[in-house]
Amino acid sequence: MEPLSAADEVVDICRDLLRIDTSNTGDPRTTVGERVAAEYVAAQLSEAGIAVELHESAPRRANLVARIPGADRSRGALLVHGHLDVVPADASEWSVPPFSGEEKDGYLWGRGAIDMKDFDAMTLAVVRGWQRTGYVPPRDIVLAYTADEEAGMEYGSQFLVREHADLFEGCTEAIGEVGGFSYTVNDDLRLYLVETAEKGIDWLRLHAKGRPGHGSFVHDDNAVTALAEAVAAVGRHRFPMVVTPTVRAFLEQVSEALGIELDPDEPELAIAKLGPIANLIGATVRNTANPTRLEAGYKDNVIPGKASATIDCRTLPGQAEIFLDQLRQVIGPDIEIEHVSRQEALETGFDGALVEAMGAALRAEDPGARTVPYMLSGGTDAKAFSTLGIRCFGFAPLKLPADLNFSALFHGVDERVPVEGLQFGVRVLDRLLQAS
Ligand SMILES: [Zn+2]
Repeated sequence: MEPLSAADEVVDICRDLLRIDTSNTGDPRTTVGERVAAEYVAAQLSEAGIAVELHESAPRRANLVARIPGADRSRGALLVHGHLDVVPADASEWSVPPFSGEEKDGYLWGRGAIDMKDFDAMTLAVVRGWQRTGYVPPRDIVLAYTADEEAGMEYGSQFLVREHADLFEGCTEAIGEVGGFSYTVNDDLRLYLVETAEKGIDWLRLHAKGRPGHGSFVHDDNAVTALAEAVAAVGRHRFPMVVTPTVRAFLEQVSEALGIELDPDEPELAIAKLGPIANLIGATVRNTANPTRLEAGYKDNVIPGKASATIDCRTLPGQAEIFLDQLRQVIGPDIEIEHVSRQEALETGFDGALVEAMGAALRAEDPGARTVPYMLSGGTDAKAFSTLGIRCFGFAPLKLPADLNFSALFHGVDERVPVEGLQFGVRVLDRLLQAS
């Protein structure tokens, strides 16, 4: 019998994980599957002789961390992290039941297939493979499987770095989502986007105050009117363009590969030509502010004394304070700004031995591979881990079919991962971890 390979095992592990419903509803009372998934991961690691620590931030909100000792323990450790929760799925919209882990047409289907039980499965398959051959990695590898990435990370990575920072002692670099996936230029050239930067998150609440009164009277100090004006102004405002080193490098390399004329003053014209991946990049040349919630009033004929709105602001590295000044200009002096939640933007250079090793690992499995750095407009667990001084990258390798609209699958209907791409990813990850 052929010995079991990581590429064989990854499909089974990914299917098992997809069958565990870890929907994160944002409400701890209805978010239930993380513990089950963490126990599954713990069993897979324990079977491979790897000691695990399970830490619950609240009942059933389980996080798992394990350390695999490397050959040279004086070197900084590499953190490899993935979240176990997923966003909910409405089964009536899907072609297959979203928690069935069904395999058809060359894909494994299910909520979490690319975000990010695929990578969780890859990491497990790789280290289980090492155990079968007695392989010892060059430096310590810390594995972290987190809860609550999809609803603010409070019960997951934020909890871990706050309460259990010692588990990550000595970690100098990290890999996790969202990066390492391919964008096909032609048969001989595929760009693999490596995430080296993330926009910051600033959730703000705007408050307008006015004079309460009767809805039938003449009234010139209405909080709803004032708030509505501010919200409309923010929603329609385009903040100035700022091209950071990561985005500049991305645009230059992609324009060259695709033969697109890049106008440095109008990069959005070039970005629009990138097709589906334009979604991933489009918001990374400006700070953005999108109104998401409104709250005012309690009766049809009463003018309320206050009104409020939530604005989801995403800021470029180094722009958080500048952005607030710009926002103040847009909304005027009378609206109060409340800070609800803020997480810093991240940006690291696209250089060093680990970055070289990513490129080498990809090219060993795909001679047409070329790595390109990019900035994610969203946020990941890297936000929390970077607060420990860890240099974070998005690198969860996947080779994708040229015609797959990958970015639409994130939180989308019929989320699925190509089986061959998953097996490719395991081989690349194995090479990277062995070379890191
Ligand atoms: Zn994710």
